[in-house]
Amino acid sequence: MDTLEIGTAAADSTPRPQSGPASYAMLINGEWVGASDGGTRTITDPGNGDVLATVPEATAEDVDRAVAAARKAFDEGTWKADDNAQNRAKLLLALAASIRENAARLAELDTRNNGKPLAEAEADVSDSAACFEYYAGLATKVMGETVPVPMNMLSMVVREPVGVAAQIIPWNYPLMMAAWKLAPALAAGCTVVLKPSELTPLSALELGRLITSLDFPPGVVNIVTGAGEVAGAALSAHPDVDKIAFTGGTDTGSLIMQAAARNIKRVTLELGGKNPVVVFADADLTNAAEWVAFAAFANQGEVCSAGSRLLVERSVHDEFVGRVADIARSIKLGHGLAADVRMGPLVSAEHREKVESYIEIGKAEGATLLTGGKRPEGETFAQGNFVEPTIFTDVTPDMKIAREEIFGPVLAVIPFDTEEEAVRLANDTEYGLAAGVFTRDISRGHRVIRQIRAGITWINNYHPTFNELPWGGYKKSGIGRELGKYGIDAYLETKQINVYLDEAPLGWYVS
Ligand code: NDP
Repeated sequence: MDTLEIGTAAADSTPRPQSGPASYAMLINGEWVGASDGGTRTITDPGNGDVLATVPEATAEDVDRAVAAARKAFDEGTWKADDNAQNRAKLLLALAASIRENAARLAELDTRNNGKPLAEAEADVSDSAACFEYYAGLATKVMGETVPVPMNMLSMVVREPVGVAAQIIPWNYPLMMAAWKLAPALAAGCTVVLKPSELTPLSALELGRLITSLDFPPGVVNIVTGAGEVAGAALSAHPDVDKIAFTGGTDTGSLIMQAAARNIKRVTLELGGKNPVVVFADADLTNAAEWVAFAAFANQGEVCSAGSRLLVERSVHDEFVGRVADIARSIKLGHGLAADVRMGPLVSAEHREKVESYIEIGKAEGATLLTGGKRPEGETFAQGNFVEPTIFTDVTPDMKIAREEIFGPVLAVIPFDTEEEAVRLANDTEYGLAAGVFTRDISRGHRVIRQIRAGITWINNYHPTFNELPWGGYKKSGIGRELGKYGIDAYLETKQINVYLDEAPLGWYVS
């Protein structure tokens, strides 16, 4: 397989690859293969429109082959065995080390393919390596228990891998989402078919290269590239897949759950959010303003946990929103590889149109456009999918921009007068992924956060994410949790074993 030769970023220029597009294959049963019908897809850089690579466009037949390889590796191989746990741990540690050795290359690749600023991509790569390290540790700590029961029985509970896991990931954190999916599944002893987003498959394929350079048995990790409607749908409906793990939009999550229902696959879903950030008047407004901007605009706002609804106590509304707007206006936009850039392009032209359509809806609904709302001007931005950091004030809770996930750099601000009103507004959403509260009154911070129905919460900060802690949402934001010890649970079945220690007969039929 060719790999992309990545050029060096010149400060403030729009960096370009040194060589032409690379041609990638996909990973099935330990081999790099093309699509069964020879189909390919072109992958581009959203910051300048450059063609980066071509990748195979998997057919349903390719998905069948990948699932068959994973099935065979699970059913007939030794990967899942208890006495292979130490080996799984060693391989995951080796993979983490290999990611760290290739960190610069992987970060540059994610920036080129997704658009995110290089500093964010570097953090993603480091977190990805740490995720494999964390689950390497857990691989040897999957434990059961013995339970006292009547009848002189030795009763045990053991945990076993769920089987073949299909994993479908989005485009906003291409490498990190692959790590969040693969690491717990492999630690548990599952075998895997991973499908990256059709927009951002390159770092997952490079991760596959690192995997094939280690001693993972063929078929344990398979990576298919292609369209959600074809490869993703085939995976979700496949009768030989035991579990499906998905991160992406809520509508797609619903489709996947419906497909999974046909053979009662285990399902975990990490879906969207319209996450509230509550700022009380007594907060440290200087620090809070930067966190709030980070909540809304990090990764171009293309984050399921983005703090996209700002609820501000009315007495400090104008002052606080002014501070956040000043920060928004100071954010340097550009190609993610250019120096000092803090916001890159959106992932695709199509996605930018979606975000821009929400900006138009916001204006039409009567919200006030405080800052942003348009494409930045200038030659640097001409070929990329850029949108300025955008803040709407005078937003009411019924407006679409207050209710729907925009998944871009658009912040909707709503004032409140009382703590009760803040809680009610925070919970006035069909989602329940994340939330933040800013106050110097720690009792109130705790009281408010406990009343907000969301799975990931922060007090006096926003966004720090740890491999050690559970990630997932309430309500329409998903089912189940990734990361932490909860993440490996999602890949384990629970079995009871009862050993009869008595010599007395059953005495039910025979007296
Ligand atoms: P999707 O939910 O469509 O994509 C996520 C993954 O699902 C991709 O790998 C996609 O493949 C795949 N997929 C798409 N359709 C199907 C299907 N029918 N069956 C199985 N898999 C499928 O997200 P989009 O990229 O289209 O973004 C749409 C919206 O979803 C965003 O605007 C945002 O609101 C939300 N989103 C949320 C994310 C999160 O982290 N919670 C991440 C990404 C998006 P393919 O790439 O080929 O379409």
